This record gives sequence, structure tokens and C-alpha cells, in this order.
Amino acid sequence: MPLEVLQQAAAEMSNWQDSGMGVMEMSHRGREFISIYEQTEADLRELLAVPANFETLFMQGGGIAENAIVPLNLCRGATVDFVVSGSWSQKSLKEAARYATTHVAASTEAEGHLHFPAAAGWNLSSKPAYVHVCTNETIHGVECHTLPDLKALGCEAPLVIDFSSHVLSRPVDWSRVGLAFGGAQKNIGPAGVTLVVVREDLLGHALSVCPSAFDYALVAKNDSMYNTPPTYGIYMAGLTFQWLKRQGGVAEMERRNIAKAQLLYDFLDQSALYENRVAKADRSRMNVPFFLRDESLNDAFLAGAKARGLLQLKGHKSVGGMRASIYNAIPLAGVQALVDYLREFEQKA
Ligand SMILES: *Cc1c(COP(=O)(O)O)cnc(C)c1O
Repeated sequence: MPLEVLQQAAAEMSNWQDSGMGVMEMSHRGREFISIYEQTEADLRELLAVPANFETLFMQGGGIAENAIVPLNLCRGATVDFVVSGSWSQKSLKEAARYATTHVAASTEAEGHLHFPAAAGWNLSSKPAYVHVCTNETIHGVECHTLPDLKALGCEAPLVIDFSSHVLSRPVDWSRVGLAFGGAQKNIGPAGVTLVVVREDLLGHALSVCPSAFDYALVAKNDSMYNTPPTYGIYMAGLTFQWLKRQGGVAEMERRNIAKAQLLYDFLDQSALYENRVAKADRSRMNVPFFLRDESLNDAFLAGAKARGLLQLKGHKSVGGMRASIYNAIPLAGVQALVDYLREFEQKA
């Protein structure tokens, strides 16, 4: 989280803008919270340049709930296609199979998810309800840098993207997307809010078993207040959106994220101790997994990092090694501090 955002939230914790109450004490239907909600939604739409024919929904349940909510709303009894490029798309596939017939259009599982499969090689089914892609595989550190153009592949289906872990790190080409979803906790704010941006014409086709609170059409019709929304999380997201606007918006964040990622990958690539195994063209700008070639040094590496205030560098348990998550809120100086430590540790090792 940007420090400025945390400090502003702390200052307003018990008395938001002289209202005499903190945000978590407000009624979600009251004038004060409605003004927070409207500003937050407007800022999100501006930052991501969301076209007028898309709805922006603030839901709950996280990305994992969306793995069920998307097929419940969009499958319409048809086959759903998946590109399996890492753990998260694998999870999405498994969950969707409970509600829809699934088809794997491409998979990098056999090679351990070290690149993003090029769209030209996808084996799409004949008339899928939608095609699911995780555009940033948080665990494997694989990013889809150019969204596929399904129409150019002869497929009329909408593209569904899970952009949980790189939302707002770069612009989105909405002409190629039908629905995007993402939990807030990686790049926006506290856990508890799930963003869904969905093209209007995809609403209103939920399966009858779909829970009402998860029916996009109902959520949209009620301005995300069909049930009580995660009000405090929405407020925190709103503070982050305003911070992003002050930084220069998503184009500026993308510029910084490219510079941050390059600094780190360039160092890893020239090192004799560390390595990142992902194909260069598909490396994530947000999540940088890396390994020490001598894994017996892992504990000493992490202890030394912690002593310098470089936290949470241990890799995901399913892949091991290390992972630096350099989300929007991490400045270039933060990545530089990591690189300085990596260099020093390598010299001593
Ligand atoms: C973290 C993450 C999720 C899961 O989010 P939850 O909020 O835990 O449900 C889904 N997809 C991606 C790409 C993620 O990084």
C-alpha cells in the first residue's frame, strides 16, 4: 500500500471529513458513503478508461469466488475455453468444470509454466461461451503482455481475464475484453473487494442456480448494493485510486513498472547466484520469482533480507525459491534496495 494512503486512512479513521463518524460506521445507503462510492467508481473508470458500455461492479468473494461466478453468469450451458498458463488459470479451470463443460485451448503445464502460450497456437473449441485467460500468473511470474484478439482468431466469444495481480499496472485494451475480474488485495487495497468490469450485453444470462448476490445483472442494477458492499475496502480502494491519479495515472504506473522490472530482471540475468526461468518476453512486471542456484543459502538469504526490512520474499510454497512482488506501491527505490541486497549477498556467498 502507498504510505500516503495508509496515513490518510489513519487520519480519517474515526472522523471522515468532519462527518462525526468513521467510514466503517456509515450506512452504505447514507449520503456520505454514497459520495465515497460514486467518486471511487468514477476514478476507477477514468484510470482504466472503461468504455460506457461496460459496468464496474464492486463485489465480494475474491478471485476464487469469481472462478465460479463467471461461469454461473456467462456459460449459458455452452463449453468454456481455458488457457492454462499457471496455478491461477488451473484453479479457474477446475472450478468452472463444476458448472460448465470445459475445454483446454492451450496449456504450459508440461513445461512448468515458463512462458505464455502464443494465441496463434490456441486450439479453441467451435463456439465457446467465453475464453478465460489469467493475464498475470502471480505464482509463476508469467504475464500476457498483449491481450489476444479473439476475433482475429475467428472466435466471436468474449475474452474473460483474471487481472487480479496486475490491475492498474498498465492500460487495458477493452476492445478485446468481455469481462475482467480481480481481487483488490494485490494492487489496490485491503482484501475483501473484488472488481468486475463487464460488457453490458453479457449481463442477464445467469444460470437459475446462480446466487442472487452473485448475479451480475442484479448487482449492476443495484449499483453494487444488492447486498451490503465491503464499504471500508471500497473507501480504501478509492484512496488508492486518488493516489494513482496524483502519480500520473496508469500510463505513468506502466512506465515505472517497466523500469522497476527491468532493473530487477537485468540484475538476476547477469548474476551467477540467482536465476529467473521465465521466457523473457512473458516475464511479469509485478511478480518476479527467482531461485538461488545454491538452495542451501535460502534461509540465510531470507534472514539477511528481513534484517534490512525487505519482507515477504519467500516464494509460493508450490514453486519454492523466492518471489519479489513489486506492485504499484513499490517505488523504484524499493527495487533498488532489493538489488543492492542481492548483490551484497552474492558477493559474500
Ligand atoms: C490472488 C489471486 C487470486 C485469488 O484471490 P482470492 O481473493 O484469494 O480469492 C485469483 N487470481 C489471481 C491471478 C491471483 O493473483
